[in-house]
Amino acid sequence: MDTIPAEKPHAVCVPYPAQGHITPMLKLAKLLHSHGFHVTFVNTHFNHKRLIRSGAISALHAHPSFRFASIPDGLPPSEEDATQAIPSLCEAIPRAALPPFRHVLRQLNEESPPVSCIVSDGVMTFTLDAAQELGVPEVVFWTTSACGFMGYLHYQHLRERGLTPLKDEGDITSGYLDTPVDWIPGLNNMRLRDFPSFIRTTDPKDVMLNFCTREAQRASMASAVILNTFEELERPVLEAMASILPAVYTVGPLSLLSQPVADSPLTSIRSNLWKEDSGCMEWLEGRRPGSVVYVNFGSITVMSNTQLLEFAWGLANSGYDFLWVIRPDLVRGDAAVLPQEFVEETKERGLLATWCPQEAVLSHASVGGFLTHSGWNSTIESISSGVPMLSWPFFAEQQTNCRYACTEWGIAMEIDNDVKREEVEALIRMLMGGEKGKEMRQKAMAWKEKARRATQPGGSSFVDLERLINDVLL
Ligand code: UDP
Repeated sequence: MDTIPAEKPHAVCVPYPAQGHITPMLKLAKLLHSHGFHVTFVNTHFNHKRLIRSGAISALHAHPSFRFASIPDGLPPSEEDATQAIPSLCEAIPRAALPPFRHVLRQLNEESPPVSCIVSDGVMTFTLDAAQELGVPEVVFWTTSACGFMGYLHYQHLRERGLTPLKDEGDITSGYLDTPVDWIPGLNNMRLRDFPSFIRTTDPKDVMLNFCTREAQRASMASAVILNTFEELERPVLEAMASILPAVYTVGPLSLLSQPVADSPLTSIRSNLWKEDSGCMEWLEGRRPGSVVYVNFGSITVMSNTQLLEFAWGLANSGYDFLWVIRPDLVRGDAAVLPQEFVEETKERGLLATWCPQEAVLSHASVGGFLTHSGWNSTIESISSGVPMLSWPFFAEQQTNCRYACTEWGIAMEIDNDVKREEVEALIRMLMGGEKGKEMRQKAMAWKEKARRATQPGGSSFVDLERLINDVLL
């Protein structure tokens, strides 16, 4: 009698519904698939539709062992191609998503193979309840840096010490945020201002402060925590974290660990919520090596039109070539308006786009520097390509990433929150042509090499992925 083949393990991957979470989760999901897992990737209805509209996934997608499912996010329906309000999402999801998620799991279990593990975003911990009910292990994937995650893990302690909520709105602009915080093991050179930004509130009931405190605390209920970083980059904080959490696996940079396999049937599945402008790569082709400043503030950052103008004139006055991605919803409340004079002056050396294939851009030889908001994906992608940065952190753990990139890794310089064109111009010149820029580029290249080694066979991230699969997920 023939033996029945053992069923494939079945991982259900649940990203938080924002670009910076969907992209790394999709990379991880593809890696699991390449290690023999059947994968179900669970987006929100809203993002599932957006991914189809942007062309990232096909409406007819029908891969037998890599499937998509979707659940509601609890917000009123919207057809807009814009970033949803993060606090509203964080309030709605824990209330709305568990029953429909249970339903998806039940449906999946009626098919074969049955669900054998859940890989959920670190801030989607309602899924832990479902994993427990089903009796399968769950790992949570914090898509942040380790230093940023350590900041969230200590929100509760910052509260207990009375450091947050702030006593007064004025504390945000006074020197109060410069208070050194030197009592957290593994975190170096930190001031209160370097912690994830949601501590900057006077409201004890603040949605984001409470949401992040709670989600971080719940990480210890999972079988393991995954981070998209690598050991050498964040060793002290990872060592300190090991004594707080059950098991931490560092599998980054995921983009290096998950090099696309040319003939993989999954290559056509992508994660961009916006349609990519096709001209960016062609435009870069015509530029000299290391000559272009790449400017992109990610998927959530918003700014005023005044701030946009300061960046614009800073770029124009620096004299360098630039590729600037301006999302349709980048400017708060209105469409971005750039003066005709700026457009005329820079038309020979600047390209404006609405969305680009960022990883390809960062690894293009023409790109010499990255003006970024320091989202973790952008930071780790820049490190993977050896590109030094100018950092204008917006919110969340971007402040922590900026601090580490500037002071610990030596690969970035910070732009003041109250951005002024003169500073932008001066820092771009320093980044692209100055001694400091040269030093930062050398350091960035050294980190790139370390990142490459971590993801090669025998490297720390490569080994951690194998351990995660064999020790926890199988
Ligand atoms: N991204 C992209 N094209 C763009 C802008 C962003 O592909 O024009 C990707 C970028 O490569 C990264 C993600 O979107 O993987 C943004 O994540 P990040 O953590 O940097 O910032 P967030 O959008 O969460 O603020």
